[in-house]
Amino acid sequence: MVLDAPRTPLRPAELPEPSPGAGQVLIAVDACGVCRTDLHVVDGELAKPKLPLVSGHQIVGRVVLSAGARYAEGDRVGVPWLGWTCGECRYCRSGRENLCDRARFTGYDLDGGYAEYAVADERFAFAVPEGYPDLQASPLLCAGLIGHRALRMAGDAERLGLYGFGAAAHIVCQVALHEGRRVFAFVRAGDEEAREFALELGAEWAGDSLAAPPEELDAAIVFAPAGELVPAALGVTAKGSTVVCAGIHMTDIPSFPYELLWGERVLRSVANLTRADGESFLELAPQVPVRTEVEPYALEKANEALDRLRAGRVRGAAVLVIGTTHTPEEERG
Ligand SMILES: [Zn+2]
Ligand SMILES: [Zn+2]
Repeated sequence: MVLDAPRTPLRPAELPEPSPGAGQVLIAVDACGVCRTDLHVVDGELAKPKLPLVSGHQIVGRVVLSAGARYAEGDRVGVPWLGWTCGECRYCRSGRENLCDRARFTGYDLDGGYAEYAVADERFAFAVPEGYPDLQASPLLCAGLIGHRALRMAGDAERLGLYGFGAAAHIVCQVALHEGRRVFAFVRAGDEEAREFALELGAEWAGDSLAAPPEELDAAIVFAPAGELVPAALGVTAKGSTVVCAGIHMTDIPSFPYELLWGERVLRSVANLTRADGESFLELAPQVPVRTEVEPYALEKANEALDRLRAGRVRGAAVLVIGTTHTPEEERG
């Protein structure tokens, strides 16, 4: 499914099978998660995708041809957003490859996984934890990884607010509870389904995004791309709290009184992921254990999945089912 230009639907296309260069693997894609970042690319909110582009950066598949040494044919691998880094810049050399100036991202600078085949640099592909079927593993690769990095940036906060209860929050909620934290979920006004979903997953309170929770919070993570949530989150956190903006794009943040930041509150963003983030999260997920809820879509229904995500109607994570190896049980989740 190819994006020719921003703000146009993806187009079904027959492309030549990609061939792996040195150090790359050719992957038969079994599942590819649909991330809000894909939506920002399709909607033209991220300015510089390669075009035409195959979207998708939560790829789970099997290696069918290896031009490297790390994986063999038949290995199951996962491909995340971070597709390549230079290894030489000051960010790469200081453990911050997520900030690499020359980084290339899957489904943005590099063709991604809304396709039967994809190639990936083997150094940036992960082994997928056993015990997760392909569909359920797929959202771990971005919603899970970025959510995990955002949660680490929230420090050891006990009372954690999650703004926007989509794919990332539904995973972070489970990890946070596993770590003994208390979760407060903020959803769009009137979104009763999202509210109930958060409560089912163990949030102790769930309410409208501009409502006051029953007590102050020690940290908040803003997943929703809505700038007005930033002052809202600062306004319900205690002194010394951190508010983390976890999305790649957000509408403008309205001006707000300094008082909301005063008291040593910290406001920060989280950008991309490092391979170390990926390895630590994929080790942690089965221990929690994180259970992902997925809505499966056939590859040719990618536009429908994006529309549902844009409308805020996906419960958990939307995932494109691409290979032919899935059981009905898997697809039901
Ligand atoms: Zn670099
Ligand atoms: Zn993503």
